[in-house]
Amino acid sequence: MTSPEASQIFHGLLANQITCSKGHKETDKDAPFWHLPLSLVNFYNQDYSVVNGIEEFFRPTCLNGEHQMYCDRCGHKVDATITDVIKHHPDVLILLLKRFEFNYIYMSYFKISCFVEIPYSLQIPENEVYELYAVVDHFGGLRGGHYSATIKTQDEDRWYKFDDAQVTPELAEYEKVSDHVKVTQKDLEQDGFSKNPFFHGIIAEVPEQHKTKEGHTKIGYALYFYAYSSWSGRAIYMEDLYVMPEFRGKGVGKALMSKVAQLGLAAGCHQLNFAVLDWNKPSMDFYLSQGCFDITDTMGYHCLRCEGEALKHLAQL
Ligand SMILES: [Zn+2]
Repeated sequence: MTSPEASQIFHGLLANQITCSKGHKETDKDAPFWHLPLSLVNFYNQDYSVVNGIEEFFRPTCLNGEHQMYCDRCGHKVDATITDVIKHHPDVLILLLKRFEFNYIYMSYFKISCFVEIPYSLQIPENEVYELYAVVDHFGGLRGGHYSATIKTQDEDRWYKFDDAQVTPELAEYEKVSDHVKVTQKDLEQDGFSKNPFFHGIIAEVPEQHKTKEGHTKIGYALYFYAYSSWSGRAIYMEDLYVMPEFRGKGVGKALMSKVAQLGLAAGCHQLNFAVLDWNKPSMDFYLSQGCFDITDTMGYHCLRCEGEALKHLAQL
């Protein structure tokens, strides 16, 4: 049972709009909905993008051949398209990611555990924009399991994970690190754009019509420099690979990384090296899927650093 208050917030209306090939439109009765179902079937081996999923959900289906529709106004059967249209947008939109699929070989349900890229802001047809503020995660199988939720607070714009009785701040959002940046714009200009640059970079740009709300068209970058291995010679080191959250899941990161690989090969490099933080599992899985391997695991490599006083001290020995 649902309270009228909840109904006000979560309830939407969906209808099928049928358009005949002559352009006659007919809409069937409004059907209430509480969530939009997005099927993850066929996404065993790749990431699922909610942006693409929504596009798929609202894509018109063509009815032709034996599926032709009878159009009242044409007076006979004609080709037509059928489209889901939202007649009433709910205040809060729930997307249900359907992760269970029936497998006829094993005669049971299987869970599709692929990664899902969810944008912070999602545009759905009729230009409604929804801001992400909560994600519910399911662990386990069909008959047993556990739920947790990650929710953004309204006032301070921080994410918290709710897991039974435990509430913990969500680990390092990429943006939160910005407090620790010590490099200035002047440093970057000097170090990247002088005669003997310390680093190189490439930038991903989108056409003007796809710019962000803040007006940015530069939406991602990779920063790299050349290194050397006394065993295998020239190497390229990728220090940063960054794509703005709303443009993730569209292959931008992959394209940037591919370009770095291309530049490395062109410069005679045999290796592309980079580091990834251990909590960043989606990135790690992406790199592994591209044929990269973890040299911490396979070769026992650990990244070491000397900085500040220790660096000065080391230089004075
Ligand atoms: Zn018609």
